[in-house]
Amino acid sequence: MRDETLLTVAGRSPDQNHGIVNPPVYHASTILFPSLDVLEAAGREDYAGFTYGRHGTPTTRAFEDAVAQLEGGYRAIAVASGLAALVVAVMAFARTGDHILVADSVYGPTRRLCAHTLAGWGVEAEFYDPGIGGGIATLFRANTKLVVCEAPGSLTFDMQDIPAIAAAARAAGVRTVIDNTWATPLYFKPLSHGIDISVHAATKYMVGHSDAMAGIIVTNQDCWKPVKSMAAELGHTLGPDDCYLAQRGLRTMAVRLERHQKTAMILMEWLSRQPEVTRILSPAWPQDPGHALWQRDFSGASGLFAFTMTPVPRAALAAFLDHMELYGMGYSWGGYESLLLPVFPHKIRTVHPWQEPGPLLRVHAGLEAPEDLIAELDRAFGRLRAALATAAE
Ligand SMILES: *Cc1c(COP(=O)(O)O)cnc(C)c1O
Repeated sequence: MRDETLLTVAGRSPDQNHGIVNPPVYHASTILFPSLDVLEAAGREDYAGFTYGRHGTPTTRAFEDAVAQLEGGYRAIAVASGLAALVVAVMAFARTGDHILVADSVYGPTRRLCAHTLAGWGVEAEFYDPGIGGGIATLFRANTKLVVCEAPGSLTFDMQDIPAIAAAARAAGVRTVIDNTWATPLYFKPLSHGIDISVHAATKYMVGHSDAMAGIIVTNQDCWKPVKSMAAELGHTLGPDDCYLAQRGLRTMAVRLERHQKTAMILMEWLSRQPEVTRILSPAWPQDPGHALWQRDFSGASGLFAFTMTPVPRAALAAFLDHMELYGMGYSWGGYESLLLPVFPHKIRTVHPWQEPGPLLRVHAGLEAPEDLIAELDRAFGRLRAALATAAE
């Protein structure tokens, strides 16, 4: 079965639900056991039923099963945000005295968890050049437990040679986790490239409508128990309504992504022709340094990319960004609507300092007509040029 088909059938069983197409939303804390026998059976590790709201209901299982199947994983755990999913995956393998390797381009809050909280607990997080590839082996120490990857990286879209990193880690007995939010399970399959754990901010394309927060962790069989027990020990869970929204979003994810990808490419092409634009950042862009790796390992691109501009005064940048009708200025992405946001990687890079002199702008290409999105960018560049001309007078 192909992924597009899987998205429409995974995690739902109308025959077990009065013929109703979608899985029901169970609101639950207490789950009753009919007898002492069942209560005792539920305490055993291989129990397949449900025991308590926090540990999941059929609503949770529907979403988890669908994503695990899509990603080719053993099982998945849904939690309340993408960041919570990353925290669980990292904490499952990092103990006091351990050393972990974290890509310099990871999502900012992941970096803070490693550099701040974990450091305070005696876990040494070393940030590595995302372009290191198999050279990661030279950074392994006797106490290295985990490599954290993200491809492409947040804000700067650095690609990583995931198969090379995963192979080096596996040979050294080091676990690997990737933040696969950008590609979604549709466009990159980390586990089939040797990664142990794949994490998603389901908040983005899975939910897809900017109306819920969710995270999900998919693991191979080997890593299932430590990850599952860390999520349970930390008290993570995902509320039933948000879980329902996430699994509902999956049903249309393939068609949405196809459109996000197409529009992003149209916008990148248009932007690349503007004299103020100095660079396009996306592995899907042919001139991007990560393009060859992306072509080799990924089967598509989502709608998120960035571009740099020549240095401009703040007032000109404000003229460009303010008064937009279609592009919202806000965090997150992956919804149906377009976004345009100035971002500042120089604050959070240590291995590869960010040295572009001009602004870095992150674009999320939404589902609007590309013509309208271009027309609005054209007006924004008009405002920018007018502001630059005024400044020059
Ligand atoms: C948004 C994001 C997260 C965090 O997800 P939340 O649901 O907002 O906690 C993690 N990784 C990446 C790459 C993201 O873009």
